[in-house]
Amino acid sequence: MAISKAQQASADAYLERFMAGLKRRNEGQPEFHQAVHEVARDIVPFLEDKKVYKEARILQRMSEPDRVIMFRVCWTDDNNQVRVNRGYRVQFNNSIGAYKGGLRFHKSVNLSILKFLGFEQVFKNSLTTLPMGGGKGGSDFNPQGKSNGEVMRFCQSFMSELFRHIGPNTDVPAGDIGVGAREIGYLFGQYKRLQNEFTGTITGKGLGFGGSLIRTEATGYGCVYFAREMLGTRSDDVKGKNCVVSGSGNVAQYTAKKVQQLGGKVLTMSDSSGFIHDPDGINEEKLAWVMDLKNNRRGRISEYVDKFGGEFHEGKRPWSVPCDLAFPCATQNELDGDDAKVLVANGCQLVSEGANMPSTLDAVGVFIDSKILFGPAKAANAGGVAVSGLEQTQNAMRLSWSREQVDEQLLEIMKNIHSTCVEHGTEGDFINYVQGANVGGFIKVADAMLAYGVL
Ligand code: NDP
Repeated sequence: MAISKAQQASADAYLERFMAGLKRRNEGQPEFHQAVHEVARDIVPFLEDKKVYKEARILQRMSEPDRVIMFRVCWTDDNNQVRVNRGYRVQFNNSIGAYKGGLRFHKSVNLSILKFLGFEQVFKNSLTTLPMGGGKGGSDFNPQGKSNGEVMRFCQSFMSELFRHIGPNTDVPAGDIGVGAREIGYLFGQYKRLQNEFTGTITGKGLGFGGSLIRTEATGYGCVYFAREMLGTRSDDVKGKNCVVSGSGNVAQYTAKKVQQLGGKVLTMSDSSGFIHDPDGINEEKLAWVMDLKNNRRGRISEYVDKFGGEFHEGKRPWSVPCDLAFPCATQNELDGDDAKVLVANGCQLVSEGANMPSTLDAVGVFIDSKILFGPAKAANAGGVAVSGLEQTQNAMRLSWSREQVDEQLLEIMKNIHSTCVEHGTEGDFINYVQGANVGGFIKVADAMLAYGVL
């Protein structure tokens, strides 16, 4: 995207005014400011010669959610104590399809975090080429340490309010941090009971009740497929590469698995208490043990070293471990500017974001300045929502596709997202995937909004 010096100066001034207004209207929401800023710094220069979007104030409209629903969630714990949490659904933008995006249950959940996630989701869903709008929701409920009964009662209470705001043609939630197979089962069961109908209103369902094959694997697999596409532009591959992965939840597990399948070596995994480093590599057997630890026994990653050796680094993140490829798959802002410098200095060639906004704005700047391959979340982790979209299609058609059929479509979608990023992000011999994803995701939604007039 080549613009003149005068246009750049005009864009800089516009961006400053735009961000000042956004911060004034959304006080105390730093994650939301950060997510919008990351997009706006690419979109504002793009708008310089696109008067039609600018005059219709599309960027301003896209950074204001269609609506925010907040509600009380009361439930009773195992000691018969009444507990009160807050539930949310941010319906951000349904210009190109029904709202679609996950539910997060974590003690840190607040409006700022859900608005950042909902905003990102709009662009991500647009990039998938499927007809999906963007939304996000969740609660400050912390599932850690809760019994199955407590989680069930919370999920049922949460859905007793949410059900009236969602539906297969309105808003289709899925999982996210703290919302896995168990929670989706409880949520969908309560939805089905209240509506007295069986529709694909939630994705990530169990295979026996409308779920899609490959949905569980999709975000992690997609993140590595995207990495492989990026490496392909430099005639390189995942095979033989040392890889650092953060997190040990759904996305991290299947990122690690696909890295293994493609011949890479996974050196690290982490959770909120620290990271483990296994110089011999986390092989198939060790990963299966981690998956059982995290998905069934709900233990801590530190237990890995008692079983397999290696080192546990308490309270630390894995970015100081020298690697070729890095996959941040835990949570937002887990990789800052200093971490990014260390990665680059140690020879890291590629970062593919499995988590949402894991890299701070400073870190993204370091990756782009050093011209390594950097796949931003809205492109690299779109595989999960893409297969959720395929789950909706299968539900609507009342049939199930095979593992191979879904995986093939996932791969095709990740390739298409990569091509869109290349189309809109190529600057000389460098591909700026952040710009490519932002501009590519923006155009489709913006054109739909223009078509609808002033809404
Ligand atoms: P999970 O709940 O399955 O796993 C989350 C992992 O991140 C756990 O290992 C958790 O550790 C760790 N973690 C959470 N918070 C922190 C923190 N503050 N510091 C360090 N580690 C932390 O979630 P997912 O794997 O589903 O999601 C991970 C990321 O991927 C999120 O950013 C999510 O938004 C994003 N994402 C997920 C998709 C999906 O399909 N699931 C789709 C697209 C994006 P602990 O066990 O200690 O809590």
